[in-house]
Amino acid sequence: MIHKEVQIDRLCAAIDNAEADLVELTQKLINIPTINPPAKNYREICDLLSARLSRSGFKCELVRAHGAVGDTDRYPRWNIIARHEGKHTGQCVHFNSHTDVVDVGEGWTVDPFAGEVKDGKIYGRGACDMKGGLAASIIACEKFIQIYPDYNGAIEISGTADEESGGFGGVAYLAEQGWFNPERVQHVIIPEPLNKDRICLGHRGVLWTEIETHGHIAHGSMPFQGDCAVRHMGAVLEALEHSLYPSLANKKTAMPVVPEQARQSTLNINSIHGGLTEPEDGYTGMPSALVPDRCRMVLDRRFIIEEDIDDVRQELQSLLLEVGQSRKKFKATTKELFSVIPSMTNKDAPIVTAVTKAIVEQLGKEPDFVVSPGTYDQKHIDRIGRLKNCIAYGPGILDLAHQPDEYIGIQDMLDSAKVMARSLVSLLTDK
Ligand SMILES: [Zn+2]
Repeated sequence: MIHKEVQIDRLCAAIDNAEADLVELTQKLINIPTINPPAKNYREICDLLSARLSRSGFKCELVRAHGAVGDTDRYPRWNIIARHEGKHTGQCVHFNSHTDVVDVGEGWTVDPFAGEVKDGKIYGRGACDMKGGLAASIIACEKFIQIYPDYNGAIEISGTADEESGGFGGVAYLAEQGWFNPERVQHVIIPEPLNKDRICLGHRGVLWTEIETHGHIAHGSMPFQGDCAVRHMGAVLEALEHSLYPSLANKKTAMPVVPEQARQSTLNINSIHGGLTEPEDGYTGMPSALVPDRCRMVLDRRFIIEEDIDDVRQELQSLLLEVGQSRKKFKATTKELFSVIPSMTNKDAPIVTAVTKAIVEQLGKEPDFVVSPGTYDQKHIDRIGRLKNCIAYGPGILDLAHQPDEYIGIQDMLDSAKVMARSLVSLLTDK
């Protein structure tokens, strides 16, 4: 017993002593602008990770998502999977981080790719979402291997592409190729920035639908000779306001979604286009007089685990049918663009139990269990990989993701690295 505690203390001390290394690794990751879209520098970041993890005894494989959405010779979708085998048979714990970041945007007061350190924080695009989490997981694994060289099973670390654009050239591709098969991987932690004392069990579902209303083109001075597709869409919008929005507000979920306003079904009108296309910048001419013959709208519906995706689809079709009953010549077609089933790992799953225990021991408090309003790569691990024992746990404040002056706290990274390392102790050593 005493010996075990001494070992854990040595593990935590080793992580604390690696602070400079952790900061430098995070900076090096931030220095590579892996902006997606379009998907820049994926190969460079995989090479950096491969060099680092090979030195630490991992066997590294680089996998390009040939044929996946977006994969081209100009923007190849590279992924890395690194594996370290323990001394004895046992289970495999996998840490999955996406390496892509969103575009910089306006409003920065620091260089977004310099990795500047100020007041205990590292600044940069991707610092919190999620290069800081990736670096913390690497330090956690390296130090665990150093202190517990005789561990059971295996550890994997992956750096994957395209999470910010759906993950098709990343985790989805790898899951299709069998990398997340429960035969070879038993536990997955995704170090997304959910705060060091929270465990994210999953996410709500998504259904993106494009609706197109059809009309008839005519001269704008004689609209009665045409049929205005934008007016038809106006009727759809009104039905959304009067019937769908109020009903969604009443669909509450038992999922612990944060922020709390997302603890229900929601709907966003993503875009609407009708009539003439927008003129290019610099065009100074007048528009022409036309009755628009088509109008398109994209709806982003987020649904809860209590709802069935077929009911969500049906709800929209019924609404369009209803609009059609009160309008002559109403014609609307729909196209489904994207869908994701809600995912929520059981609270008594082994990975949840291990990380909960580690948080209690490291931070002296019970974790909060949360669910994300939007999806992340857990969807592919769950649905394609059929691996249910998966959570998101990592340092950083979610609200900073995608913002200007994004940062990660160094102490938060150290604390969550210790939680990750303690979780490895309970999953991969004899208790
Ligand atoms: Zn992320």
